[in-house]
Amino acid sequence: MEKKNPLEKKLCYERKLAWDEFSPESRKKTLEFAEGYKEFLTRGKTEWEVITEGTKMAEKAGFIPLEKIKKGSFKGKRVYADNRGKNLFLSVLGKKPISEGVRIIIAHIDSPRLDLKAHPVYEEENLAFFKTHYYGGIKKYQWVTIPLALHGVVVLKNGKKINLVIGEKKEEPVFTITDLLPHLASDQMKKSLEKGIEGEALNILAGSIPHQNKDVKERIKLAILEKLNQKYNFTEEDLVSSNIEAVPAGEARDAGLDKSLIAAYGQDDRVCVYSSLKAICELKNPETTCFCMLVDKEEIGSEGVNSAQSTSLLSFLSEILNLSSPKATELQLRRILSSSQAISADVNAGVDPAYKDVNELRNSPRIGCGVVLTKFTGKGGKGGSSEASSEFVAYLRNLFEKRKVIWQTGELGKIDQGGGGTVAKYLARYNCEVIDCGTALLSMHAPLEIAHKADIYSTYQAYSAFYK
Ligand SMILES: [Zn+2]
Repeated sequence: MEKKNPLEKKLCYERKLAWDEFSPESRKKTLEFAEGYKEFLTRGKTEWEVITEGTKMAEKAGFIPLEKIKKGSFKGKRVYADNRGKNLFLSVLGKKPISEGVRIIIAHIDSPRLDLKAHPVYEEENLAFFKTHYYGGIKKYQWVTIPLALHGVVVLKNGKKINLVIGEKKEEPVFTITDLLPHLASDQMKKSLEKGIEGEALNILAGSIPHQNKDVKERIKLAILEKLNQKYNFTEEDLVSSNIEAVPAGEARDAGLDKSLIAAYGQDDRVCVYSSLKAICELKNPETTCFCMLVDKEEIGSEGVNSAQSTSLLSFLSEILNLSSPKATELQLRRILSSSQAISADVNAGVDPAYKDVNELRNSPRIGCGVVLTKFTGKGGKGGSSEASSEFVAYLRNLFEKRKVIWQTGELGKIDQGGGGTVAKYLARYNCEVIDCGTALLSMHAPLEIAHKADIYSTYQAYSAFYK
């Protein structure tokens, strides 16, 4: 409702619907942006696929691999580095000396899913299955009886990598996890949602035709292994050195009669990944040196190689510093970081009208009201959060107003309801300004997540404004 009273208009804050605020030109751009985003989501369903897509975008936008620059063949302004296929770092060198600080946007490429175990194949009751171990925070009941696709990389002893994707094309089979019929589920239905489907019940149906050799003990399992061997040339032991992920099959789609929303797997956090990639790829001659950093393992606590806690971020920052001043010291790097600004680009939870009571509605982000600026995350009492300074929030408010970015602020749920964290606190360790800023989703971490196209476009606009 538009505020009519001038004093009310002057003094009171009002959350705005992005679509209302957008010009016809912005609305057109919003819809165009969503088309590219859907393609990105469809092609990038695993960490390595996202990095492949990101690398293509970087190269198309004139970014040069760091190795080439290190060999001295280029004195480039646009640099990228791929770390083990699970990190992508991009930088556009600015006009001002790097010693005055840099701008960093960091987003995560991993999404909740079901990973195949090291010995996944088994048979029981004339059916073959793959054992899985779920990755990240999932509601297990959401992952049964839906079509799944397998995306994987198997690494042989000789180092050769075999890529596989099964279940995305029409002619390919899909996979699924069965569930009990309601007629016989009276015990199961009495269990809590958490216990109704157990982790060890998330077994993927893999096949049912027995091997023709009747002397074999497990004929269906052998037939499955033989099929894999014939097509991909690996054995059961080779699966020990593999990453095979079961993800929801199918393309990212428009949702709603007005096609205003996107329904797709992996929008946490690929909505921020795509928006930050687009923003840095389009960035030309910025004042300040800018970075886009894509990290893995956020969904399991940012532990391990390629995560926001690994030193790969610092290594890339050092490499960029080294390009402009080859004799730079660690002290200089520390000084740069402490005068830098960073956005932890991650999603927030929009209010779902069916579950309003988990929110404190005065402070919860709404779908369709623009990008969400989150001053702090964490659980009850701001536990485990990195809180942004008021100075940095004020800086961004001013920036967004100047650049006509539609934004809102929001906490993740009621204080004692639960909560969540992001990579913000790991960046804060470098003593730079950092804040969470990203898109509000519905059904976060579900196989099908929902985002509003105007919020996605606002996210991209926010990141572009920050870089410029
Ligand atoms: Zn996330």
